[in-house]
Order: sequence, then structure tokens, then C-alpha cells
Amino acid sequence: MKAAVWKGIEQLDIDDIPIPEPKDPRDVQVKVVACGVCATDLHILEGKFPMFKPPRVIGHEFTGVVSAIGTGVTRFKVGDRVAVETGLACDTCYFCRDGREHQCLHRLAHPGGYADYALYPERNVHKLPDGLTFEFAALAEPVACVLHAIDLAKLRSGDVALVLAGGTIGCIMTQLLLHSGASKVLVSEPREHRREVVKAVGGIPVDPKGQDLAAFVKEHTDGLGPEIVFDCLGHPALLEQGIELVQKGGTVFVMGVADPDAVAKVKPFQLFDKEIQIKAAFLRPYMFHRAVRWLPHLTLQPLLGVEYPLAKTKEAIHALRDGKGLKIMVKP
Ligand SMILES: [Zn+2]
Ligand SMILES: [Zn+2]
Repeated sequence: MKAAVWKGIEQLDIDDIPIPEPKDPRDVQVKVVACGVCATDLHILEGKFPMFKPPRVIGHEFTGVVSAIGTGVTRFKVGDRVAVETGLACDTCYFCRDGREHQCLHRLAHPGGYADYALYPERNVHKLPDGLTFEFAALAEPVACVLHAIDLAKLRSGDVALVLAGGTIGCIMTQLLLHSGASKVLVSEPREHRREVVKAVGGIPVDPKGQDLAAFVKEHTDGLGPEIVFDCLGHPALLEQGIELVQKGGTVFVMGVADPDAVAKVKPFQLFDKEIQIKAAFLRPYMFHRAVRWLPHLTLQPLLGVEYPLAKTKEAIHALRDGKGLKIMVKP
């Protein structure tokens, strides 16, 4: 089969490798149909994601059809349409036993979805609701990450939220915040085509380059600022902006993946004076089944539309850097 193998900085080759066949009784082999391109893939390609070491098949947002199963698999049969949750916790370390599998000390990463086939344990595979397309379902992973953040944020019904960056995460965040009780979601996004999508999914877009963001936020919050701000990009400037703009007693939430060496300037006095909480969300523990449940109720079509074949995976990842579309898909 063909697979996109990451081998180092800016090195991603399409290699011929053997199809992974079920070995363990619980293994499920999936023929990949769609794999979403994530900013994390770009960080990996640029050598700014220390969690992974090359060589490896990347791609962690994928869907497909079950093509073979181990003898002990009970929940799936060949032909089932599924989404795959990547990453596997050890189930034995302190954090796993403490109910925090995403903080596992020995987390395993199986080869990913930029490939014709992938092999995962049954526990990582989720059946898709009828009628949901493979492309929509490939968004289960980012939806799961957003759900984890919203749970941790402890949003109250009626709160106003400010989302910084209206990319895929920002546009999913906007919808799930509104579904979860936010009365209004303001979204700061410099790119016009993304502000159009923000509007289509129910957010109130603002251009932070062309408009006065602070004035806009005040105008929409009776001069008080939003109760909660989400940095959906992972940039120090957005964390600083969030601390400036959030209401007294509010929460600033780090949702994006920052460059590991990036440093933000924070005034401890300001945190004290405004009594601000700074929080973050890592991965998506125990969220995938809820994400799959949400998918049919979300507006996802405006996020899609840019697709590349597997042979052009590197171009697809670069297209994300160039700001093309929103959620780019690679299709084997
Ligand atoms: Zn991702
Ligand atoms: Zn563990």
C-alpha cells in the first residue's frame, strides 16, 4: 500500500509499505477514505512537535471502512463505516489509573491515516451514524478536542465567549459553544473567507487587523468583556490579547498548539487584579463517542471543499500553512 511517511523536517515521502494485517484478536483494519489535515501535521513537518519521532506515518483525523477484523472483535464487521481515534494509553501508569488516559506516561501512537490502510485496536474505532459522510466524520477528532475544552471551561448558560482565530477549531468551537449555552460568540479572524464561514456557523466575526477589536468586544459586552476567551490558534499574542479582553473573574483558555519555544508576556498583577483563570486543554480523553454523536447536528459543509490525493499529502499540509480553505482533506 501507499503511505505518507514523515522522515524529518520538511521530509514526507510516499512509500510502498506492507498492508498492516490484524495480529491481535482485537485488531481492526480500516481502509482509509478521508484524512483531515491538522495544524499539528504542519508542526510535525516543521520539526516543532516534540511528541513524535520520525520515521512514522502521520495523519490523526481519519475515517474509512472496516476491511478486516481480528477473531476477538465483537462490535464491528467488514464493511462498517468508522472513524478512528488515534493514540493509545497504556492503562497501567499512574495517570491511566487516575482516569486521565490523555496524560499517560507511555502513550503509544500507531501509524496514522495518510495511508491506504490503518490498523487499530477495537477500542479506538467508532461506528458512524447512517448518512454521515466520511469527510464530515473526519472532523470527529477536532470536535472531540473542542468538547474536552468546553467541559474544562465550565461555561455557564448565557455567557458571552470570544474565540480568537476562526479556523477549523474556532468554527467548531463557535457552534458547540452556542449549542452549550453561550448567548453570543464573537470570533476574531483576519482572513475574510474564514469570517464568512464564522458567520455561516452562527458566530459574530470581527477583523482584528481592520477593526478595533477591543472596542468591538466592549460594544458587544456592555463594556465588561466576555466571560471566556479561547485562543484557538496557540499563539502567545492571542493569550496576551485574551488576558487584556476577558471580563474580571473570567477565564482565558489555551486551545491551540503553540510553538514549544514561544513565550508570552503575562503581568501577574493583571491576573490578580482581574482575578483571571488561565486554563488549557490537551487532547480529547473519553470524548470521541460524544463527538461522533454531535457530528450530524453541526454545520460542517462550509468548512470543507479543499481535497488532495494521498500522493500530494505534503502539498496538502503546505496548503494549510498558506491559509487555503479551512479543513483540507487527503484522500487515498
Ligand atoms: Zn488534529
Ligand atoms: Zn498510561
